[in-house]
Amino acid sequence: MSAWEKVKVAIVRRKLLSNRIPEDCKNPLEEWMAIKAMETFKKHPEFRKALGVNKLDEVGPEEFQEYQLFRVREQMRYTQENSIFYRDYFRKAGVSPEDIRSYDDLVRIPMTTPEQMAAEPMHFLCVSVTKTERAFSTTGTTGVRKRVFYTREDLLAKIDIISSALMNVGMKKGDVLHIMFPTVGAWDPSLMMAGACLVAGFGSSSSSSVDIEEQMKTIVVNNSTFIIGLPSFIYRVTVLAGEKVDLKSMGIKKIISAAEPLSEAMRNTLQNAWGCPVLDVWGMTEFGLACAVECDQRVGLHTDEANLLFEIIDPDTGQHLPYGEKGELIVTSLTAEATPLIRYRTRDISALYPPGCDCGTRFNHRIAKPSGRMDLMTKIGLGQKVYPLLFDEAVLRFPEIISYHVIIDRAGYKDRLTFCLESLDQSDILKEKVLDALLSIPEIEYSINEELLEMPRVLFRPPGSEDYTSKAKIIIDKRGNYD
Ligand SMILES: [Zn+2]
Repeated sequence: MSAWEKVKVAIVRRKLLSNRIPEDCKNPLEEWMAIKAMETFKKHPEFRKALGVNKLDEVGPEEFQEYQLFRVREQMRYTQENSIFYRDYFRKAGVSPEDIRSYDDLVRIPMTTPEQMAAEPMHFLCVSVTKTERAFSTTGTTGVRKRVFYTREDLLAKIDIISSALMNVGMKKGDVLHIMFPTVGAWDPSLMMAGACLVAGFGSSSSSSVDIEEQMKTIVVNNSTFIIGLPSFIYRVTVLAGEKVDLKSMGIKKIISAAEPLSEAMRNTLQNAWGCPVLDVWGMTEFGLACAVECDQRVGLHTDEANLLFEIIDPDTGQHLPYGEKGELIVTSLTAEATPLIRYRTRDISALYPPGCDCGTRFNHRIAKPSGRMDLMTKIGLGQKVYPLLFDEAVLRFPEIISYHVIIDRAGYKDRLTFCLESLDQSDILKEKVLDALLSIPEIEYSINEELLEMPRVLFRPPGSEDYTSKAKIIIDKRGNYD
């Protein structure tokens, strides 16, 4: 049996919670979380005791926070028993699950770093390898390679939440999701997406080809109405196919950008070309796909708080930051079976927003769109931080530009940025405009004024001359070791 057939069988055998979301539900994502909290309430006396009630009719902010704290204690007990790493880690820190009674108590638990995970991946594993269904490897540009495992339960839980998230973005029976994740071979988001569509009763189509015409053909043949995929690739399809086809006539209702940061410049170009909203999803391999998803209000991303707990800390002091303040995003898994992670440092910058959103949620927190992984950052000049999202905003505001990469090297004592643009238009006028946009990035402007950065260079490449590259490889640093 193929992996996909196995998933299908597991889905059919298991009644997933997303099946119980009423059809006319306004907030399927939050409804799903409420159902999950109710289930936990029924099964676990400790949760009932913590809440001090025997009956739960409605889940509000207080009830949901108690649910999360109960899950943290459970996940700690589970990792203490089953993970070599956490057994020692909690003992050395002198912290036990019973100590965690409030949100403030969380800071008593030591954080887990990507480096710790990369050093001893098997010490995090809580089940025997034979029980794992999938192992995903992930690397940042820092070269920290991590291995994350999933059991069948983990995969089904992910598929379950993704299906409620798809309902939340507005998919209905009869809709077809076109899944575009080329070059993401190491793990299979397509499989999970297709599984989620199966659960929710939506159709799905997918193509892993980098060929633009192949992608467009698949969309047409399947009458796809929603698109999900890597924004850098959807963008490429948009610019190249938009030359020949009126994309607005394709009948796409919404585009969901996943697995890479979405710049506002890219979002605008996509929305104008397809004539539909573009929503952002945030996730990381360590916690599976779709950890947070935008609603139509586009005021931050709604988080999957039934399976994950989010904190924002000051990266220097480790203390919690108030709502709205930017800091490092810390994530704790609440229900993971294979590789649970407690207070994991994502190296991503975000902010936490209080419950309440115009889309009608009552207890769910949102996070600010993460500004890009800190491990994709590099420094120029006097330590000015630059990262792909920053360049995206400047370069991809021009819809003629299909893709780009940046080479950073040195010219004498100064740093030098060379932007190689794959573009439909190769005129000097566009070159000037791009240069102006780059010079308006404060980090670049500052470094030039301080005479630590050369004037950026802009080079054009003809369309089709570049292979598709994912966002992680956009910055090529040739300076050797640089702090
Ligand atoms: Zn909302």
